[in-house]
Amino acid sequence: MAEENELRYDPAAIEPKWQQRWAADPTLYAAEPVSCGKPKYYVLEMLPYPSGQLHMGHVRNYSIGDALARHMWMRGYNVLHPMGWDAFGLPAENAALKNNTPPREWTLSNIAGMKRQFERLGMGFDWATEVTTCLPEYYRWNQWFFLRMYERGLAYRKKSKVNWCPECATVLANEQVVDGCCWRHEATKVDQRDLVQWFFRITAYAQELLDGLDQLDGWPEKVRTMQRNWIGRSEGTNVDFFLEEINEGTGIREQGSDAGPSTPLRSAQDDNRVRIRVFTTRVDTIFGATSVQLAPQHALVATFTAADPALKTQVDELLEQQKRAREAGDLGAIEKHGIQTGRFAVNPYNGRRVPIWVANYILADYGTGAIMSVPAHDERDFEFATKYNLPIVQVIKPAQQGADEKLPFCSEEGLLINSGEYDGLSCAEAEKRLQEIAVARGFGEAKVTFRLKDWGVSRQRYWGTPIPMIHCEKDGLVQVPDSQLPVLLPDQIEITQQGGSPLSRVPEFVNVTCPKCGGPAKRETDTMDTFVDSSWYFYRYPDAKNANAPFDSKIAKYWFPIDQYIGGVEHAILHLIYSRFWTKVMRDLGLIENDEPARRLFTQGMVLKDGSKMSKSKGNIVSPDEMVGRYGADAARTYSLFAAPPDRDLDWQEDGVAGVSRFLARVWRLATKYAPVAREGRGRPVEAPSGISLKLLRKLHQTTAKITQDFEGRWHFNTCVAAIMELVNEIQAADAQLAAGEVPAPEMLELLRTLVLLLAPFAPHLAAELWEELGEESSILRAPWPTSDPELAKEDELEVPVQINGKLVEVVRVAADADAKTIEAAALAGEKIQARTAGKNVVKVIVVPGKLVNLVVK
Ligand SMILES: [Zn+2]
Ligand SMILES: [Zn+2]
Repeated sequence: MAEENELRYDPAAIEPKWQQRWAADPTLYAAEPVSCGKPKYYVLEMLPYPSGQLHMGHVRNYSIGDALARHMWMRGYNVLHPMGWDAFGLPAENAALKNNTPPREWTLSNIAGMKRQFERLGMGFDWATEVTTCLPEYYRWNQWFFLRMYERGLAYRKKSKVNWCPECATVLANEQVVDGCCWRHEATKVDQRDLVQWFFRITAYAQELLDGLDQLDGWPEKVRTMQRNWIGRSEGTNVDFFLEEINEGTGIREQGSDAGPSTPLRSAQDDNRVRIRVFTTRVDTIFGATSVQLAPQHALVATFTAADPALKTQVDELLEQQKRAREAGDLGAIEKHGIQTGRFAVNPYNGRRVPIWVANYILADYGTGAIMSVPAHDERDFEFATKYNLPIVQVIKPAQQGADEKLPFCSEEGLLINSGEYDGLSCAEAEKRLQEIAVARGFGEAKVTFRLKDWGVSRQRYWGTPIPMIHCEKDGLVQVPDSQLPVLLPDQIEITQQGGSPLSRVPEFVNVTCPKCGGPAKRETDTMDTFVDSSWYFYRYPDAKNANAPFDSKIAKYWFPIDQYIGGVEHAILHLIYSRFWTKVMRDLGLIENDEPARRLFTQGMVLKDGSKMSKSKGNIVSPDEMVGRYGADAARTYSLFAAPPDRDLDWQEDGVAGVSRFLARVWRLATKYAPVAREGRGRPVEAPSGISLKLLRKLHQTTAKITQDFEGRWHFNTCVAAIMELVNEIQAADAQLAAGEVPAPEMLELLRTLVLLLAPFAPHLAAELWEELGEESSILRAPWPTSDPELAKEDELEVPVQINGKLVEVVRVAADADAKTIEAAALAGEKIQARTAGKNVVKVIVVPGKLVNLVVK
């Protein structure tokens, strides 16, 4: 009985033992100083929000990063593997309201709990560099950066329409509006309100943010595509159409012509006329414009409706449709409606008059809020013109003879027709010429527009970084001097989540002496978007205790860019664009030299349960504590890497965790059983292995090569774990020979030692335990990663499946370097193959060297 117990793998005993030892050695996971002379490796996982509980998505994310960090340590790098807390944000306020616990207390106690979970999982983080964004030692630097941006015109205030969640009583970013509802309150419709807000001028970097994506070849293509679309650059032309005047006395229209192309209007006589500026990416098609369409909010529409109550009613209806579509989050799919205003615009190139429409699908905040409609060459315009029976004038024909000319013809591979003197030009030539003419005659210019908007950072919340600005009646906006940073969040505050910013209800916070005139003044009461905190936290890690600056530039120069960043693809646009922007701002401030924060990015898949996302409402949450309690941290971590390739979604199966746990138990039994033999091999070289030793060492070196390659490239950790399982199976299958002493001690030592090293990034506790069992005294984390001997790894024989008419019949063995002829001969000589082909006609033999042989038999 006692012996039975001794032979049981017991993670509940092994794991805490090692966690205690690791915790007692602060240098173990610590990054070494810049002067250490080793190559550096910065592996970073996205920092969690301290909700109070790690979830399985975290376990997966951090198991990937931790495996990589451990591998790089063993490869001899100076590794930085830090962890911190994205600790500001609304849930702390919600919890405060619900439990009557101050946000700070709630947050810090959650952090303590999650830190214990991390330790119980055995994650190798350098806690000396921990960053907690809600602490003044961190957020003072948010304020410092804000002031630097303000000084450079990169932080500014403007009145703007904002998304307002009545439930949160705060402003939401566009991206926080999901299907017209709040991202936190799935059933709460978002309102539109006008507020004066603080913005960061991210658009100043739009072009650079776009261009930089081309260099980021270590980022997933899907992330780069999402960012390109988000930035949304389009090249085009701003063109002024002219509003046709109404002769008040007679109602007779003057100017303009309904007839075909005539002379373009001259700028001199156009100077006093009302202009309608449109943005188009296809000025080459402008002779095909058959209407001008305005957004319902366009300034000109108000002047039309002022004189026409019936028109106003119709425009109001369009506004209402647009608002509903915006709230429903499907503005792109709005059913297109428009109304004719009865007014006309004049095309500046040919003097032709076209009707002015107001349409619900034209957006006031894109381009100029006005478009020219060219139904012959634009899908959307074609659809609209067909619906309202507007004329369709073809002005481009395909460049290629006989090509499909069906309208709308939207390709730019074409030649101009029906365009007066420009007929025969290619689209590209015409674009250039027409732009030049617009500039020369003063009715337009080349224009690049971006979909990217400036980043609204104001939040009417308590639990965020106070914006370090002061409003003085005499001096206007005044910066808080650097010497008065941080502007501290008041500790005691009543959270109601109603009526705007909670800080505005704290007189001791609001009332302040103006730093400029010494008179009474008021503090800004908005706090910053929490995406500010996460935009630069990783620069703080290597110099987390710096009290004089956000970080030391020399230290940042050594560690940046990050070598590998790992996180969820849901952060592809917001966090990852904001942190790229922040990096460029810091570079322009002279703080860093790198242009981009991270050289490589990896986005892991989600963890699902029974095919769907784990959530409280579905009641399908699997808790990490439960898994660790039942199977151990090593089994939970290894399973999360084994169950699917890391970039794919993983469906959590408890059976699978149990299976991995049984596998680890087998490794433990195997290593424990043969460790005494292996220890005798210490200091003795392996010499010309043969027989079963050679077979096992070959498998060992093949496995080493595979796993090493995977860490360098594909990261298919699932197949790495599978390869270790195969190796263990093969060793176990030879148990009788091992027990009989057929494998000499030095070979046994190499076998077990390397097996344990290969396992170390995935199951660090078990590896540490067995490492000690093998007589090793120093930490396995500092042991060199094993190398594979290609000679030893080389197979001398290969198994080749042989098929008859596509069906597997037999597997034959051939020399690993056999040529096609030899393989064919071996296949035809196979016992079963001979039996099946006897008396038949082998029509064809297809040999795929190293893979298979197929015989076509009749
Ligand atoms: Zn909300
Ligand atoms: Zn003042």
